[in-house]
Amino acid sequence: MPIQILAEDVVARIAAGEVVERPASVVKELIENAIDAGADNIHIDIQGSGRQQIRISDNGDGIRRQEVSLALTRHATSKLRHTEDLETLTTLGFRGEALASISAVSQLSITTRHRHEDIGTSIRVDGGQIVDEKSAGVPAGTVINVENLFFNTPARLKFLKSDNTEKRQIMTVVTRYTMAYPEIRFVLLQDGRELFRSNGRGQLADVVAKVLGLDNFKQMIEVSGEEVGRDGYPNIQVQGFVSQPSLSRSDRTRIILFINGRAIQDNRLNHAVIQAYHTLLMKGRYPYAVLMIAMPTNFVDVNVHPTKAEVRFQKPDLAFVAVQRTIRKALLEYVSVREFHDTGYGAEFPRKQDDKTFWSTGNRDADTYQSDLVLDYESPGYHPRQYPDDTFIAGGTEIPYGLGMPERPRTLPLLRVIGQVGATYIVAEGPAGMYLIDQHAAHERIMYEKFMESYRTNDIVTQQTLELQTLNVSPEDARLIEEKQELLQALGFNLEAFGPNTFAVRRIPALLANIDSNEVILQTLEDLAQDKTPGEEAIEEKLIQHVCKRASVKAGQILSLDEMQGIIRQLERCESPHTCPHGRPTLIHLSKDQLAREFGRLG
Ligand code: ADP
Ligand code: MG
Repeated sequence: MPIQILAEDVVARIAAGEVVERPASVVKELIENAIDAGADNIHIDIQGSGRQQIRISDNGDGIRRQEVSLALTRHATSKLRHTEDLETLTTLGFRGEALASISAVSQLSITTRHRHEDIGTSIRVDGGQIVDEKSAGVPAGTVINVENLFFNTPARLKFLKSDNTEKRQIMTVVTRYTMAYPEIRFVLLQDGRELFRSNGRGQLADVVAKVLGLDNFKQMIEVSGEEVGRDGYPNIQVQGFVSQPSLSRSDRTRIILFINGRAIQDNRLNHAVIQAYHTLLMKGRYPYAVLMIAMPTNFVDVNVHPTKAEVRFQKPDLAFVAVQRTIRKALLEYVSVREFHDTGYGAEFPRKQDDKTFWSTGNRDADTYQSDLVLDYESPGYHPRQYPDDTFIAGGTEIPYGLGMPERPRTLPLLRVIGQVGATYIVAEGPAGMYLIDQHAAHERIMYEKFMESYRTNDIVTQQTLELQTLNVSPEDARLIEEKQELLQALGFNLEAFGPNTFAVRRIPALLANIDSNEVILQTLEDLAQDKTPGEEAIEEKLIQHVCKRASVKAGQILSLDEMQGIIRQLERCESPHTCPHGRPTLIHLSKDQLAREFGRLG
């Protein structure tokens, strides 16, 4: 082919690909335009995950009659004149590309009236061509309606994810802006249903609680700090909310950062947040954070990428230090206040620390640990005392299931409980010496096998919650609960819609009877959100592990002889009694020979 300059419409479609990647990018650009227009009311209405229709109305300034068609032209903007203006930019937009790009790949209409004009305009564009323009009597502000997105770029359409994923992405965009602009009232409707609403009262706390869910927000602390820049560098302010060490996630998706009102992605700053939690969170766990970072506009370059999600700092270390110090300081204050006021400090984040200590069994790699116990079932001369094969007791309550289950073959020798060490390990005697059993790991193993079995046979015992128990979650999690209703039911959780993003917890697995089941549900949702391949069995196993981990007796819990014996009786009949569901050992065996050697009785 000879070299030719591409036709205008081809160029437009190619360029559109940079700005408009998916329905959520349209939502993002249109929200930004509404914010730039000074709106304090933004209404977002989506049909069919945004492919069918995205309609955004605002009560901002509106567009002047003679400028409406110009607004649709590429590189037409009211926000920037000269390159120097980039230094002092206070608007979210400046490239003049969004409307041109969106209109090139959809059927779009704009209905708008400038607040200083009496008559409004309505314009229709089809794949970039204006097909109709007329005057309209409408209130001041702008309504942009985008239909049949990507109708003329089938390749792009093919690359879209499932409806649910696209919907979640839209939700993420909307909630990000809600947090950045608490003084704006946002309403999000999807397929006619209201999914999210902010009150516009200007309180960041209100919005963060809505976006992350009240049950998570309760475990967050407020941070506020200013890093003073020296040698001509500016001051940087950091404001927002971060999680207490009791609240964490296994991914970084809840570290949400804004610079001068713009949601950004920045690995270094993410790292600053994570570093502030040094030693306060277990490895592989990440905090929640919503941070508003403010600095003079000439110290950040937002003109790095068409979607404006990445920025460059003139002095990256400054922002890093500001974020890290502000959070660290607040966390240390929080932790020391807790330690001082409340000896029950042990009840909250030490739970994780307990786990840590019990996981570090010796210096083996705990995850690959395989018990090398030598089992000696038929040791001559061993006559154990008989104990009834009763149900065991957890935290003083009888576990209501497991009763009447067919007796399983024995996988450990009969063990006799002698006592407890450090309220953590059970000491037992068996035919071949002494056994130290980790009470938490052992109980977890027992629960896990029973729960898995009842799950497989569709026989999970559930229990009605006695008082009204509600759970307020993020809008994303609320959708997830609805999508995964069936799976949650099968696991014994019955959650009923109870107001916006709130559920009444009607039934829970019986083994969670005396436990904060909301916490277990939140953890379960985290797993569900991360389940990328819907290989159902795997996720269910993971969820069941959560439930069991939470329901098991803890290290540090003093157990009666009966309770200990109950645990041992059941462990003896587990399929894999040597490890907990995470693969860590449940017991350590000291053989008679080993003991004799230690005491110098053997040559
Ligand atoms: P940019 O936001 O980078 O300027 P856009 O293509 O998004 O580029 O918008 C082009 C122009 O159209 C804007 O500069 C603005 O003047 C006008 N405009 C777009 N949306 C709105 C709106 N909701 N209210 C008022 N003016 C708008
Ligand atoms: Mg714009």
